Amino acid sequence: MAIKGAVQVEIETCKGCELCIEACPQDTLALSKDINKSGYHYAVQIHDNCTGCTNCALVCPEAIITVYRQSKKKKGEREEVARISNVRNNVSISINDNDN
Ligand code: SF4
Ligand code: SF4
Repeated sequence: MAIKGAVQVEIETCKGCELCIEACPQDTLALSKDINKSGYHYAVQIHDNCTGCTNCALVCPEAIITVYRQSKKKKGEREEVARISNVRNNVSISINDNDN
């Protein structure tokens, strides 16, 4: 069974650059029809086929995507596996890959 993942995008900070959409091997993401407060269409998860591969989070220039994978330890719960922050200044990458 494929690993079950999910992503969370900070809608109001998204610039709609589509890099995450291009980077996703699953075609999980798309731009929203709606716009955020800054006037950008933002990335949304349109399919339930995310594997939690973290590609989208790694390419996002705004560092606003958090990736989750379903926890194998606690069924039904999801755990954060990747959060990439402060890409422009101090790169901080945290990837929890203990399940593999
Ligand atoms: S984690 Fe991987 S599969 Fe999931 S949305 Fe991001 S790029 Fe696509
Ligand atoms: S890469 Fe980041 S800023 Fe660009 S569309 Fe995706 S979430 Fe938005």
